[in-house]
Amino acid sequence: MKFQNYFKFVFLTLLFTLFIALPFLQAQTASTITILIDPGHGGKDPGYVWSADVQEKNIAMLYAQELARQLQNQGFATHFTHQSADSFVRLEKRVKKIDQARADAFITIHLNPTTADSQTVELLISDQDTTSAQLPRSLQAALIEQNINTSISKAKLFVLRYATAPAVMVNLRCGKSAKSVSHWQNATRRKQICQALALGLTRFFHENPVR
Ligand SMILES: [Zn+2]
Repeated sequence: MKFQNYFKFVFLTLLFTLFIALPFLQAQTASTITILIDPGHGGKDPGYVWSADVQEKNIAMLYAQELARQLQNQGFATHFTHQSADSFVRLEKRVKKIDQARADAFITIHLNPTTADSQTVELLISDQDTTSAQLPRSLQAALIEQNINTSISKAKLFVLRYATAPAVMVNLRCGKSAKSVSHWQNATRRKQICQALALGLTRFFHENPVR
């Protein structure tokens, strides 16, 4: 190859890499970040029951489905530990799915009724957690931007302790009255919260690339 032709070859190769191959590779990387979403409870385990029609497992599933939509909008791949509020899945099996789905993060969704009529999104991580602390902080920042009350706590919970990826429980706190839970049943609020969670995950992986 002539010297001049050699330079032409190198230049064209660089041009190809920058304008054609690179955007393609970046798009591929973004779509390979996988979030495993775990709708709390299910089947014979309804979680908290406000009334026959209003049960934790159903509300958690609605949030899980909305979160998946918002994450897909941001370019994530999503998996569920179970697709229906009618199916019962053991905690061990939920955690195993992290490896099966090759998930990069695990988000479990619950509603925890307390005697106080609190309307806070509580973000829980394992009491032994040393790796995921950044994830709840990122989620919290995005929720606060939407004027949603949030708190971060540590808890002794099976799915958080044995998770093999950064794991957070999104715990919608409320009172035991029907009026109190209706705060979280509002579709606009659900979308707003899930959009904020998706944004928090996007920023987290921007700062902590998976590979
Ligand atoms: Zn629960």
